[in-house]
Formats: sequence, C-alpha cells, structure tokens
Amino acid sequence: MPSSAPAPSHLAFVPFVSVENMMALVHTIGIKTFLRELAEYLESDFKRWPEFDKTPRVAAHSAEGVIELMPTSDSSLYGFKYVNGHPKNTKEGLQTVTAFGMLADVASGYPTLLSEMTLLTALRTAATSAMAAKYLAPANAKTMAIIGNGAQSEFQAMAFREIVGIRALRLYDLERAASEKCARNLSGQGFDITICGSSEEAVDGADIITTVTADKQCATILSDNMVGAGIHINAVGGDCPGKTELQRDILLRSSIFAEYPPQTRIEGEIQQLPEDYPVTELWQLINGEAKGRTSESQITLFDSVGFAIEDFSALRYVRDKLDATGLYEKLDMLADPDDPRDLFGMLQRSKGSDMA
Ligand code: NAD
Repeated sequence: MPSSAPAPSHLAFVPFVSVENMMALVHTIGIKTFLRELAEYLESDFKRWPEFDKTPRVAAHSAEGVIELMPTSDSSLYGFKYVNGHPKNTKEGLQTVTAFGMLADVASGYPTLLSEMTLLTALRTAATSAMAAKYLAPANAKTMAIIGNGAQSEFQAMAFREIVGIRALRLYDLERAASEKCARNLSGQGFDITICGSSEEAVDGADIITTVTADKQCATILSDNMVGAGIHINAVGGDCPGKTELQRDILLRSSIFAEYPPQTRIEGEIQQLPEDYPVTELWQLINGEAKGRTSESQITLFDSVGFAIEDFSALRYVRDKLDATGLYEKLDMLADPDDPRDLFGMLQRSKGSDMA
C-alpha cells in the first residue's frame, strides 16, 4: 500500500479529524471498503515491521482502569495514541475505551494530523483481528462466536465478514441487552445471527471464537473444554496486566501469535505463561517468514492487545483520505511567527495584548 507523500510540514495549521468528521469519512468511503483498505494499510506496515521504532506502551494503571500512550515512528512519520481502558465506565454512561492520536513529520517535528481515535481504534482493532484471521482461521470459516457484545463487537463482526467471509454470528454477553443491541445494529448486513444464553452455547459450531469482554480481572471467558480442535481464537479483551480471558490450558494447546511480544507478555493472555514461552510474531506470518495454520486440527490463537503500529497505519490511512474528502478542520495549534526566533514579538503584537 503506497505511503503517499508525507503531508507538508510547513503548514501553519494541523488538520483535525473530529468524531463527526470521522463518522462522515466512514460513511463517505463505506464501512466495508474502509475496513478492507485499512487492513491493506496494516498489512503493508506489518510487512515492513523492522523499519519501525518499537516500545511497549507506557501505561498508568489505577484501581479503576488504565491510561496509555502508544508511540512509534519510521524514518518519515512519528505517531502516537492516547487511549484509556476503564471497564466500570459503562455503568456511569461513559465508554470503556476512548482515544485520540497524532501524526508528525520526523524531519521537522511538526504535527501533521490530530484525530479522534475512539472510532478509529474500534475499526483498526477489528481490521487487525480480521487480517490475522485471514492467515490463521480454518479454510472456509463461516461461523464466528462473539463473547462480549459491547462497543467493539459490531466492528469485529463487520471486519470478519468483509475480510474473512464470516456469515453466521453466535452472540453472548453477560447482559442480554448488549447482545440484542449488537444483533439490532448488524441486522441488514447479511448475517445469520443467534443470541445465545451462555458462552458454551455460543462457541458450539463456531469456526472462530472472538472474546472481547471488559473486566478488570483474570476472567475465564473460555475454559479449556469449550475449545475444540481446529478453532481459531481471536482474543481481544485481555489487554492489561491482571486482565485475561482464557484459561491457561487453552494457551498450552494453541499456536500463539502476538503483535509485539515484549508488550504482549506484559498485557496479553501469555502473561499467564513463562517469559520465554514460544510465540510467533504476527508480522513474520504476514511477510511469509513464519508458518500459520499447518493442520486442520491445530488451534490458533491471536493474542491481541493492540500495538502502536496499528494506530500509525490507521492514522496514515485517514490522512491519505483527507485531501479528496475535505473532512477535517484546520486547527490553530502551531505558533507561526514571521521570524521563527521572534516568538515573544508575535505575542506582543497579538490583538488585545497588554504587554506594551
Ligand atoms: P464494552 O465495555 O463496551 O463491552 C464489553 C462487554 O463485555 C460488555 O457488554 C459486558 O457486559 C461484556 N462482558 C463482561 N464480562 C463478560 C463475561 N464474563 N462474559 C460475557 N460478556 C462479558 O467494552 P469494549 O469497548 O467493547 O471493549 C472490550 C474489551 O476490548 C476491553 O477489555 C478493551 O480493553 C478491549 N480492547 C482491546 C483492543 C485491542 O487492540 N486488543 C482494542 C480495543 C479494546
């Protein structure tokens, strides 16, 4: 996927994509095309993985949740995302996950894009999961169980339909109203949808199991006896120290794929395993250096926690759409004095100054 010419670094404004404009962008492009093209951007960046600066995200944990900064850069672009995870938020009418992010020009250090990333995180998480499943899921997978039917769930369903070919969904959530909301939102998208009364019922007959629950503890969303041979597991919700979804025995039976193991060993399902337990890096699968599914009976597990390069790809995709759509505002965020060394003079000359 082409990395179009970097946005000019001399702009006196920063293009800003609000939530309203992000929604308009998704509608203008169409969510299916958006997810497919975003997955292409992700794949192209995973293929050049060694070119990026990488670090586990910087996390500030509290009793109720986590606030994280996720930076990365290549030789021309720097990106970061601010994101939180507060499972108790929905009880107060707030979202579990909210985010915003930025791209900047490495050569000048000037910001070149500021964007909402709550919607974009849901889109990029789903596109990444579906990209991984394209390589790992059983051939002709048609049925997916989704356990946890909150904010991320419909995005997962849409990406798996578009990129993997999923046609039937088996939904389960502790709160039936969440499953009903998910089924309602996805009606008319061509899915055969079943709302289930338990996670055991949901995984029955599924080729792929997506776990995307939110709970600040080591939960057992899937126990070992629920996972049959040949399944692909897309484990999205366990993404913090002390926050997992799968019983440890499942991990021992699975071929495990991770985004960036130094981060996943802290935050993912594999925090339950010894530090040197073998896992395969997703980028090596995508660039052909590592094998994915090698037998019909193999259990594959994508231990998703979300890595900075995925946000970088997503921001890059959004940036490349702005010229054609005009769906951004100009943010007066960069001081731009006529003489770059006369910042004080610019302030003195500004209207209403009482610095005479
Ligand atoms: P959300 O709060 O909107 O939805 C979570 C749902 O899980 C709720 O409907 C809740 O009732 C349900 N749930 C909780 N415990 C359950 C259980 N034991 N069984 C069945 N359902 C249960 O949260 P969200 O925004 O959809 O996020 C879901 C999870 O995904 C969070 O943990 C979040 O941190 C994680 N996440 C991961 C990534 C990634 O890249 N891996 C990205 C975004 C979000």
